[in-house]
Amino acid sequence: MANLNKRLIVGANMPAPSENVLTNTQKVIRDALDRLGYESAMYDLLSEPMRVLTVQIPVRMDDGRTQVFTGYRAQHNDATGPTKGGVRFHPDVTLDEVKALSIWMSIKCGIFNLPYGGAKGGIVCDPRTMSLAEQERLARGYVRAISQIVGPAKDIPAPDVYTNPQIMSWMYDEYSHIREYDSPGFITGKPLVLGGSRGREQATALGVCIAMREAAHHLGKEVADLRILVQGFGNVGSNVARIAHSMGAKVVGISDAGGGVYNESGLDIPALLEMRDSFGMVTTQLSNVMSNEDFLVQPCDVLIPAALENQITSKNANDIKASIVIEAANGPTTPEADEILQQRGILVVPDVLANAGGVTVSYFEWVQNNQGFYWTEDEVNSRLEEKMVASVQQILDTAERYQVSPRLAAYIVGIRPFAEAIRWRGWV
Ligand code: GLU
Repeated sequence: MANLNKRLIVGANMPAPSENVLTNTQKVIRDALDRLGYESAMYDLLSEPMRVLTVQIPVRMDDGRTQVFTGYRAQHNDATGPTKGGVRFHPDVTLDEVKALSIWMSIKCGIFNLPYGGAKGGIVCDPRTMSLAEQERLARGYVRAISQIVGPAKDIPAPDVYTNPQIMSWMYDEYSHIREYDSPGFITGKPLVLGGSRGREQATALGVCIAMREAAHHLGKEVADLRILVQGFGNVGSNVARIAHSMGAKVVGISDAGGGVYNESGLDIPALLEMRDSFGMVTTQLSNVMSNEDFLVQPCDVLIPAALENQITSKNANDIKASIVIEAANGPTTPEADEILQQRGILVVPDVLANAGGVTVSYFEWVQNNQGFYWTEDEVNSRLEEKMVASVQQILDTAERYQVSPRLAAYIVGIRPFAEAIRWRGWV
């Protein structure tokens, strides 16, 4: 009976087929490899991570109990170099999600010419209900559990949803203790005093805003004329709102896990940033908060989903008012919704292109750690800008040349270095 119940509960939590981010991603990988003319063995290798580790992490909670958390680390492919990608702390983490996220990391590294393959980690937990001491014990326990498969020349973690420089610091400290030498190149997204890079914290958001500016120019528009809706007010969403505002755009709506606020004449972004708590919540202190469903269909020129997966679906895609969607989150659009947006002539700048500023500056951080020589913020930002502008152009040109969506174009460009490296190494 207990087993049956468990199975029913697991079944109830399983995403609907169109919302399984792994199978959705595998379809795009197949399409990209077909267009590049690769055989099925290449697909078999690249459609799944080459290595996945599942761990059980016992954590002593503040009340004396031990709670056991499940964690994952998926390494997609290391033909082009060590693997790289964040670790998320979230109650909805699943193995399929972590696998898909690791594949997306590969595509990002491929597009941006970073000498890495993709990886991703996740722990099923809700840090919003945990004390800092409990989060620290969990972070350290995770590093002990995965220590054999990670390292500065193997697999380099970073922040993701609900993880931050503090968690990176504990993980770095734990890893350095295990190896018995200081290893700043083991993890990125560290604070500056521990070898972090200038510009890393806002890098994803800056990249998103540069991608937005380039996409707008492509359609003959200027940033100052854009009304922007930002879904999510975590590290990425709040920095996107701040940077877009400073670029002269009108941020008309922002939202967090509690809902959204909208004002057609533009929101007071500096005031909202002041109110934000460490999990990106602001709406608890505001009135006239609308539901997430209503929020996404408010009038705007640009919609920037910066929260979690599967937010733009076949249910709301027809009602979205934006003419440009910039995917700051990973996987915010289902394939059906993508199709609808495409048919409606909405320009979708896909996640693997739009949000790769984060991993790009993580790469800069790792390079600086390896050299022991640190760059100015201007150097970081201008190198990021150069890569972002070139990549957006390359993807739009590829979409044009192959007559495909920017998403498929991004996968074609991003998967190619893996297929070529695999050929050179003689694996397929
Ligand atoms: N978690 C971020 C992402 O999804 C950054 C990964 C990194 O910096 O390695 O791209």
